Amino acid sequence: MSSENSVPDNAPQHCPGTESDQAGKADACAGCPNQQICATTPKGPDPAIPLINERMATVKHKILVLSGKGGVGKSTFTTNLAFALSLDEHIQVGAMDVDICGPSMPKMTGLEGEQIHQSNSGWSPVYVNDNLAVMSIGFMLQNQDDAVIWRGPKKNGLIKQFLKDVDWGALDYLVVDTPPGTSDEHLSIVNYLKESGIDGAVIVTTPQEVSLQDVRKEISFCKKVGIPIIGVVENMSGFVCPKCHKDTPIFAPTTGGARKMAADTGINFLGSIPIDPRIAKSCDFGESFLDQYPESPAYKSYMDIIEKIKAFVSQSQ
Ligand code: ADP
Repeated sequence: MSSENSVPDNAPQHCPGTESDQAGKADACAGCPNQQICATTPKGPDPAIPLINERMATVKHKILVLSGKGGVGKSTFTTNLAFALSLDEHIQVGAMDVDICGPSMPKMTGLEGEQIHQSNSGWSPVYVNDNLAVMSIGFMLQNQDDAVIWRGPKKNGLIKQFLKDVDWGALDYLVVDTPPGTSDEHLSIVNYLKESGIDGAVIVTTPQEVSLQDVRKEISFCKKVGIPIIGVVENMSGFVCPKCHKDTPIFAPTTGGARKMAADTGINFLGSIPIDPRIAKSCDFGESFLDQYPESPAYKSYMDIIEKIKAFVSQSQ
């Protein structure tokens, strides 16, 4: 994709990447035509970091959205967070989809099939409207059904390029949709953004213990790498029947749900979002749920949570 990627096209399967300390020395390097060059090239601090800092200098607030598991509604939440922040037309918002293996933001923002343009000042993101820009690996796939099967260093190269080369212009908020779990991609994003400052992370979960278990891992990841945790959001928390108004806990919180887990681990509980089939429908049609259903209970939940995120971030200035 770019000369910045640290894995040559003819690299062996487990290539550690040209910038790794193991470059040219790992078992996988044996027999590689580039082994000698890799082993002898001097390694130092990543030269991309000052460039990332420079690019990010025009971004006031950076918010990561994380989840322990896939399918809990992380991308849906990130999309609605971006839509909600951009409701104020004086606020410039960027949404970056680094969910390399399952980029869903182009669809959720109604930008499927759009292409990224390159200019002298970098890659231009795709605009949903004047104050909401989106950048996703999904824009680089020829076909939406193409799988992105890349090895670690190549993924790192792409993430680095997203952070370094996207011409966001001046942004008030950059929200970053990350892949589920505590993978290499998380570490890359954190490493690259750390110097320019991450305001904090929002962790999305569903109420069941299987999801919460992985959230605890996510919390310890954030603590370990020094990312402030803005708080946890419980998504798909109950379903209110529109006819009889009975509230059914579809994913029953067998261990007290996210609220109890947040209290136990000393992090903020930001709120719960109910299951609402219209949320899924809006995402599938690339429309803003918040614009369409301002009367819904889920709208109120989203807005309460987003106000808390804004308050947290404004204090971290
Ligand atoms: P993740 O990013 O965690 O993998 P997604 O955001 O892709 O999860 O959501 C998974 C599915 O659940 C999507 O089809 C989405 O539309 C749906 N969804 C997410 N949150 C809700 C909700 N509160 N109510 C109904 N459907 C939801």
